[in-house]
Amino acid sequence: MKYKIVNINETGDRSVLIIYTGGTFGMVQDATGALAPFNFGKVVDRVPELRQLGIKLTVISFPKPIDSSNILVQDWKDMAYIIEENYAQYDAFVILHGTDTMAYSSSMLSYMLDGLNKPVIFTGAQMPIGSIRSDARENLITALEIAAAHNEGRPIISEVCVYFNHLLLRGSRAQKLRSSTFAAFESENYPVLAEAGIEIEYNYAALKPFNPDANLVVRNQLDPHVTILKIFPGITEAAVRATILEPSVKGIVLESFGSGNIMKFDWFINCLKDAIAAGKIILNVSQCVGGQVEQGKYETSKNLTRIGVLSGGDITTEAAITKLMFLLGEEKDENLRKQRLTHSLAGEMDHELD
Ligand code: ASP
Repeated sequence: MKYKIVNINETGDRSVLIIYTGGTFGMVQDATGALAPFNFGKVVDRVPELRQLGIKLTVISFPKPIDSSNILVQDWKDMAYIIEENYAQYDAFVILHGTDTMAYSSSMLSYMLDGLNKPVIFTGAQMPIGSIRSDARENLITALEIAAAHNEGRPIISEVCVYFNHLLLRGSRAQKLRSSTFAAFESENYPVLAEAGIEIEYNYAALKPFNPDANLVVRNQLDPHVTILKIFPGITEAAVRATILEPSVKGIVLESFGSGNIMKFDWFINCLKDAIAAGKIILNVSQCVGGQVEQGKYETSKNLTRIGVLSGGDITTEAAITKLMFLLGEEKDENLRKQRLTHSLAGEMDHELD
């Protein structure tokens, strides 16, 4: 792929590579009035402050910036590849990305960038940079400040994060919860990593500790043969069968009620059993934004562990579906795959692998 590279500022004691993928951040209205992405060169003209931050800044732009609704597995590989290729030359990375699927990308990148010990901060905007009241400028400038922040030569952040509307969140915990306010993202099941007010206040206890010996290895075997089944009262057997017994599907995120509950009808349990007998993996996550799956807490979930449904604990759907793609591709040993699915790989769930 041919990337466009622009040097924005060549002096400063920290260097940050901005990877511009698209999103509302840099969109302009086309002839019909619909928003479509435009080139980053024009973005820089809108934020002259970028040259005054005292940070060496370079931008690599996707050849054709995209609305993040169009993100594909190949785009995740491209983002990881750009980071791998430039890892030694830069202190940190900021990925400008549409908000719609940012939480999927930040989750996936946190799995793919194994051994990361530099900041990778996703950010974007709810309103295009050209709008007078846009949130784009603040989001980008603070994401850059956080990316460049260091203590005695070590970066304060050494993981994949989302920065949005004054909050720094763990990438594998963030979710887009709102589409029409600036406060779009939260991480209900994990504390905020930092809050930007007059000062940027870091929650040091919640940050992934810096590991000076870590070496980046990009893991890019991803298998997209997965699906999500969100149950609802009245769902039909035909709809469930069509979703989870589709032959190409190897992994299913089951979005259950509350703390992991499903309807206890025989036909439903039989569908799950048939899928598991066909070699598919089922990972149970909650439809609730906060809280966790506790299989066995109610009668309506007690059979799940017995038939082989795995508990996703307090993982988000975004982190669960990307984790399934990641482990179906990367982990060939079936038992280890199941074990790794139910334990933390990148801080996406409470349960650490012992
Ligand atoms: N549709 C846009 C995108 O995700 C929305 C945004 O950036 O806020 O690319």
